[in-house]
Amino acid sequence: MDQSCIPDNPYILLTPGPLSTSKTVKAAMLRDWCTWDADYNADVADLRARLAALASRQPGFTATLMQGSGTFCVESCLGSLIPDGGSLLVLANGAYGARMAKIARVLRIPVVEEDFGEVSPVDPARVAALLAAQPQLTHVAVVHCETTTGMLNPIREIGEAVKAAGKIFLIDAMSSFGGIPIDMAEVGADALISSANKCIQGVPGFGFVLTRRDVVEGCAGQARSLSLDLYDQWQAMEHGGGKWRFTSPTHVVRAFAQAMDELEAEGGVAARFARYSQNQQTLVAGMAALDFSALLPRAIQSPIITAFHSPTHPDYAFKPFYDRLKAQGFVIYPGKVTTADTFRIGNIGEVYPDDIERLLTAVKDARYWLV
Ligand SMILES: *Cc1c(COP(=O)(O)O)cnc(C)c1O
Repeated sequence: MDQSCIPDNPYILLTPGPLSTSKTVKAAMLRDWCTWDADYNADVADLRARLAALASRQPGFTATLMQGSGTFCVESCLGSLIPDGGSLLVLANGAYGARMAKIARVLRIPVVEEDFGEVSPVDPARVAALLAAQPQLTHVAVVHCETTTGMLNPIREIGEAVKAAGKIFLIDAMSSFGGIPIDMAEVGADALISSANKCIQGVPGFGFVLTRRDVVEGCAGQARSLSLDLYDQWQAMEHGGGKWRFTSPTHVVRAFAQAMDELEAEGGVAARFARYSQNQQTLVAGMAALDFSALLPRAIQSPIITAFHSPTHPDYAFKPFYDRLKAQGFVIYPGKVTTADTFRIGNIGEVYPDDIERLLTAVKDARYWLV
């Protein structure tokens, strides 16, 4: 497709999404599609099959696309999968875990929120003990990569504890799916949630919930919302040949299909994981040389986003630092940790180790408090 009309971005986004996308992904949006037309619906059906194939090497998984940002998909999943009489355990160590507990409260789903603290991973042994002590719990939810800090939670070991107790396991893999290899069958996941504008490198506008087919099939009539009814949405897509119930984000879906092609062309999730890891390692080593230390130790740090301690110099403030980096072509992210003063730099999107090297030069120049 002709990309000459797509202008260069004035800066790259080193953020956890929306993130920098390729010109070819943006160019895929330069055509209008009919939400009910067979051409478009066939593309949706194909996308769903490709997502289900990414979910696991084993059969039995199905994908449901849902309008809105990632949070809409989390709300759709919790509100549709947990029946009346069910009760949810949320394993939290950051803002996104806390958000799942909040969704449950808003939906009047009984919830136990277990907080592991923002700088420690979820402890599977504590999960097993909690499930043994509170047999009323039916579902367990955890965030894979807690974007608040960049922490990676041990979903395989958590899944073992959840499955040993016979509970349904839900994973918010919003910021990791497509960028870190995950096999839902291997980690015992019944549902996994992600969105278009994270590691698949599409643009924002919809997300998706991957589920075991029997799990979504058993959810008819359970939803606490019409528009976020995951079962109804799945049913329409599955039996309507890729139809959405309501107006679908057609341009965004086309861009996502292009992004999926580009993921495959890069060599799949393993290759993308290697690139993100290289970005992240280049970043941490270069930042350390400039006296910036990472919040988390390497063993629990994801390749997705890194939180750095803010400089303790009295003249430092985030905003002027941010502005100086932006003027040099890089947009970074403020911190979100409550217990430490941090800022964050993302490694995902159409971003390569060369970009990180250029960023490090920019960071060096942006340290206005040292002059
Ligand atoms: C991005 C993200 C979400 C969803 O956020 P939205 O702003 O609704 O797209 C949820 N969980 C995690 C871990 C995320 O990184």
